Amino acid sequence: MKIFNTQTRTIEEFVPNEAGRVKMYTCGPTVYHFAHIGNLRSYIEEDVLEKYLRKHYEVTRVMNITDVGHLSSDADTGEDKMLKGAKREKKSVMEIAKFYTDAFFSDCRELNIKKPDIVVPATKSIGSIIKMITGLIDGGYAYLAGGNVYFDTSRLDNYYVLSNNEAEDLEVGVREGVDEDSNKRNKTDFVLWFTKSKFEDQELKWNSPWGLGYPGWHIECSAICISNLGERVDIHCGGVDNIFPHHTNEIAQSEAYLGHKWCNYWFHVHHLNTPTGKMSKSSGEFLTVSLLKEKGYDPMVYRFFCLLSHYRKSLAFSYEALDNAKAAYEKLISKIASLEKGSCEADREKVSILTAPFYKAMDNDLNTSLAITAIYDVLKSSASDADKLSAIAEIDDVLSLNLLKAAEEKRNSKETSIDSDFAEWIGKMISERAQAKIDKDFARADSIREMLSEKGVMLTDTREGTTYTVVEK
Ligand code: AMP
Ligand code: ZN
Repeated sequence: MKIFNTQTRTIEEFVPNEAGRVKMYTCGPTVYHFAHIGNLRSYIEEDVLEKYLRKHYEVTRVMNITDVGHLSSDADTGEDKMLKGAKREKKSVMEIAKFYTDAFFSDCRELNIKKPDIVVPATKSIGSIIKMITGLIDGGYAYLAGGNVYFDTSRLDNYYVLSNNEAEDLEVGVREGVDEDSNKRNKTDFVLWFTKSKFEDQELKWNSPWGLGYPGWHIECSAICISNLGERVDIHCGGVDNIFPHHTNEIAQSEAYLGHKWCNYWFHVHHLNTPTGKMSKSSGEFLTVSLLKEKGYDPMVYRFFCLLSHYRKSLAFSYEALDNAKAAYEKLISKIASLEKGSCEADREKVSILTAPFYKAMDNDLNTSLAITAIYDVLKSSASDADKLSAIAEIDDVLSLNLLKAAEEKRNSKETSIDSDFAEWIGKMISERAQAKIDKDFARADSIREMLSEKGVMLTDTREGTTYTVVEK
């Protein structure tokens, strides 16, 4: 399997540290608001990556939940986002965290995103965070200033391993209109532990060797990753906005602490954009899965919409584009519903020939749109319906588009009453198809079946002749 590695900026063969096992880490959500469909684009792609890796390896996947320390600016200034959420809703930070963590996993369930094996909130990892900061201070990589603990980026030979940013580009705080922190020795230094919150009502604080305080956002991911997956992780994921400063800082502090290379592959999903730019929670204007459902979209249509494009391309959201995906998804389900479940067993060898193009597409840097084309090719092939259904089931283990379930529902949906003209026309088409088969004009026979299926007429060939059911379209 080949995958693009942000760190080397090349597509590389994926080779885990330990044969047959993959350790995977994902930056989880900051739970101060609902996840928007942009955040969920990242989690859908990461879910596909995990499920595809599971086809070949035993995978352990860890995700953090950011419930403290993520300030309004990624450069450690501004208000804690959690506090902002609590104020907005006049609730406590922990109430907000619980509510939006549950909401996040409920959205994930709607979108068939598997819950990672281990999910750890930052507030439950304070011990490992303090241990790591202590190690960094002991190693001379961190310093105390103005009551806070900072990572000293000047101690590293190459801080910008992940991003080719220039120092001038890195004034994140200034760019976002928030004050720069005068305690920092270098512009790129970042906070590991805050004791001097600029906000008196910061609710969550813990005792530490440096005083009562709370951790910075970056250290939580390194500490949660190392304490749950050990000193070496194979692949680390997030959206592209995480590359700098979050993942850059994670590498800096983890490798300084461990004294060796920490993570081999960095997987970043490009953004879902709206006409005004990146969809973001802080803008306050974003779309959620519930909103899409209210508007009548099956969450699977959104998953399908995401998988139709490549994770390394930004994706422009519009209802028009979503409607196109919806029409294509429904057509695909109708086609699958017209396959006969029958009693014959699938032939393993034939199924593996049918699924080969899917694996080839996925092996090539997770090309999900080509993987979807592989489903259409399965449907078009001359294989038996049993082989086709088995191949589609195998592909959908990874894509998780509910293909068979939705097709089954379509088949089972109650028969619609039809008028006599329609019934007469169906009868005529069935006779024409029977004649086409006698004439060995199988292309014509298939096209009649397809045309009927598109109108919701599902044919079943029996020894006594062809019967049909009409399902709701
Ligand atoms: P957050 O909850 O803000 O910490 O973000 C959760 C995940 O969503 C992170 O991996 C982000 O990189 C990712 N993300 C944020 N905005 C977008 C977007 N518009 N499109 C895709 N991914 C995003
Ligand atoms: Zn993270």
